[in-house]
Amino acid sequence: MSKTLTFKISIPTQDGFFGRECNNPDCKRYFKIHQNSLKDEMYCPYCSLLFNKNELWAQDDLKYAQENLEEEAKTYVSNEFSKMLSETFGKQSGSSKNSSFSYKIGSPYRKKYISPPTEKEVDSEIECSECKAKFQVYGIFGYCPLCKCDNIIIYDTNISIIFTEIENASDKNRSLRYVYNDLVSTFEDFCKKRNRSRKKYNFQNLKSAENFFKDEFGISLFNGLDNDEILTIKKLFQKRHIYQHNKGVIDQKYIDIIPEDGSLLNQIAPLEIEEFKGATHIIRKILLKII
Ligand SMILES: [Zn+2]
Ligand SMILES: [Zn+2]
Repeated sequence: MSKTLTFKISIPTQDGFFGRECNNPDCKRYFKIHQNSLKDEMYCPYCSLLFNKNELWAQDDLKYAQENLEEEAKTYVSNEFSKMLSETFGKQSGSSKNSSFSYKIGSPYRKKYISPPTEKEVDSEIECSECKAKFQVYGIFGYCPLCKCDNIIIYDTNISIIFTEIENASDKNRSLRYVYNDLVSTFEDFCKKRNRSRKKYNFQNLKSAENFFKDEFGISLFNGLDNDEILTIKKLFQKRHIYQHNKGVIDQKYIDIIPEDGSLLNQIAPLEIEEFKGATHIIRKILLKII
């Protein structure tokens, strides 16, 4: 005869937010979701894969639950065993001899205290404007974990995360290199989500993105932008490109796309916070057309 035992283990939350961890081995990133927003299936806000809620346990929470469960089970077994022995042999402690075997009732099992997992840092709390889900993320993200919508609030949150990163960075130039890249990746993510065709587009390349939106949606990305604005985002994309692929040195290909920087040939491309800020506003204008 088998019997199923159920133990309830509660995991402490902070302000009602549960820690979750993506189950995609390439992502494994951490986020939190408000207890009122929990659903049976949820998307990872970073990589967008859909998971059953049981697949999104934060590893620390899972360990905490398992250890607690073990303690509950040991306590249960110890109590049941003592009960059984005393029912059989009466409530005596110490040893007793019986014709077939001897036994000793030990002291009951003392449950060990398992300390709850330490809180992981998250840096933004968001309420989805579509489905009202409340969640918290760490760093750049792309989706609401409940309805998978992406919208301009997500972009704005990401940009404010990026600016905080720059402010807190000890090496400003290094952090600018990262954020030029982050901004292009953010743009790329929004574009990828629009691509329902089988064709692959390189959205890190502005020309390719421009062609995609013209061909697929009849949208002209740069419509409504003035020449300075177009130049600013071209610089953002090209500088990111040469920092990724040419150690930041301006080559002839860069100059062919941005002849205005002709005097900088073979020099390290200057990264500027003002240029970056400008680019975030322009990308925002573009995104409003495509999302
Ligand atoms: Zn993920
Ligand atoms: Zn949502």
